[in-house]
Amino acid sequence: MTKKGEDLKLEPVNQVIVAVGVTPRSTLKDMLAKKSIRHFIIGDAAAPRRIIEATTEGAKAAWEI
Ligand SMILES: Cc1cc2nc3c(=O)[nH]c(=O)nc-3n(C[C@H](O)[C@H](O)[C@H](O)COP(=O)(O)OP(=O)(O)OC[C@H]3O[C@@H](n4cnc5c(N)ncnc54)[C@H](O)[C@@H]3O)c2cc1C
Repeated sequence: MTKKGEDLKLEPVNQVIVAVGVTPRSTLKDMLAKKSIRHFIIGDAAAPRRIIEATTEGAKAAWEI
């Protein structure tokens, strides 16, 4: 990550959760699938719907971790 123009390396990390963006981008999903890295696509990233679907899927994914 970059903070105030300085590159920082955060480690060690066990999991990275990405919950950003308005338009879903599948490049990360494709890379994770290709490398067989377990991941969850939830909420509007999977398909635009309602808050209840996003929070339900988030909770289910959290319980799966
Ligand atoms: C105008 C509108 C009205 C809606 N009204 C309703 C409603 O009445 N009832 C209902 O159930 N649903 C409603 N929805 C749908 C609901 O908002 C979504 O289904 C829900 O918010 C999806 O949650 P999410 O966590 O998947 O995505 P989001 O809530 O979109 O969460 C993504 C988060 O990532 C952040 N983000 C984006 N880019 C970056 C970045 N580069 N770095 C860091 N953070 C970033 C965003 O700021 C946001 O906080 C509405 C949607 C819209 C657009």
